Amino acid sequence: MFQLDSLLRDNIRRLVPYSSARDEFHGSAQIFIDANENSLGSPLTRWYNRYPDPHQVRVKEALSKVKGIGPQHLFLGNGSDECIDILYRAFCNPGKDNVIINPPTYGMYEVSANINDVEVRRAVLMDDFQLDLIHLERLVDENSKLIWICSPNNPTGNSMNRQDIEIVLNNFPGLVVIDEAYINFSRHRSFIQELSDYPNLVVLQTMSKAWGLAGLRLGMAFASEAIIEVYNKVKPPYNISQATQELALKALEETEQVNDMIRTLVALRGELAGKLTQLPVVRQVFPSDANFLLVRVADAGAVYAHLLEEGIVVRDRSKVERCAGCLRITVGTERENDELIRAMQRLDADARHA
Ligand code: PMP
Repeated sequence: MFQLDSLLRDNIRRLVPYSSARDEFHGSAQIFIDANENSLGSPLTRWYNRYPDPHQVRVKEALSKVKGIGPQHLFLGNGSDECIDILYRAFCNPGKDNVIINPPTYGMYEVSANINDVEVRRAVLMDDFQLDLIHLERLVDENSKLIWICSPNNPTGNSMNRQDIEIVLNNFPGLVVIDEAYINFSRHRSFIQELSDYPNLVVLQTMSKAWGLAGLRLGMAFASEAIIEVYNKVKPPYNISQATQELALKALEETEQVNDMIRTLVALRGELAGKLTQLPVVRQVFPSDANFLLVRVADAGAVYAHLLEEGIVVRDRSKVERCAGCLRITVGTERENDELIRAMQRLDADARHA
């Protein structure tokens, strides 16, 4: 039922990818005058005058040990945002194909579709923020190429039911993309170990969240070797900088420290949820498997503006489907969370005196 070749855009199937200087030469040499780099060096270190490894072999080896999956199943992007965009460019014919999103969800699935002139169909999540499988199935037609499932979901914070995701994987003939950007904060199992069961599965993860490296821009796509080949064919040759590769390698040696941060953030999330729930202005704190909380308040616009006056920026999601009255609040440090609570208490006090 699933045929990768027939999903691909014709121009990508026919594409002869760019072959870089570093791709063409394998072996050892003393003099590299093949890539028009600056032979004298750079203002930083000599290393940076050279183009980086286009295949990021060392980073992928290190990551594959941490993730327990072979490097041939791994693609690295300039943030997961690049992993998202490449799927559109490889699989979706502009003006013809469509994709399905499950809003409220991460905004780039739709923005990237719009950039690539691809139709977006919306299967809005149900009241409990779970997938609406009946609606979703009705939206699928022969031009549906991708279904985006974000789990844990941004901005709702919940994980999608595993069985529902499996139903989609078993029945949709296009690609099912599961965005696990926040998986490290959840108790649920990742889907990356299920790749051999589902040839249509792409799992996205990122170094931007639990790993604390949003500034580096390093996203990952896990998929079958055939899908990873497509990714590699379409990507810009040197999409991951030398600095990012070096720093990621260093970070990957610090799994203990990262695990400590995850444990701390999960504990802080629980404490923050408890304190928010007690505030009169708060109507509901939704359960979260991520490093943020979706919080329904009496008047989202007023709370947002008040917090801003106190120097605190949260994300106003109140205009988003199913999120009326909701703010999305990232779990901060202990001190930041305390300041947030105090600022919200002051709002309650002001309201009482008004
Ligand atoms: N997916 C989700 C669900 C996100 O929330 C985000 C960032 N907000 C991203 C992907 C983007 O991650 P990256 O920094 O790797 O581009």
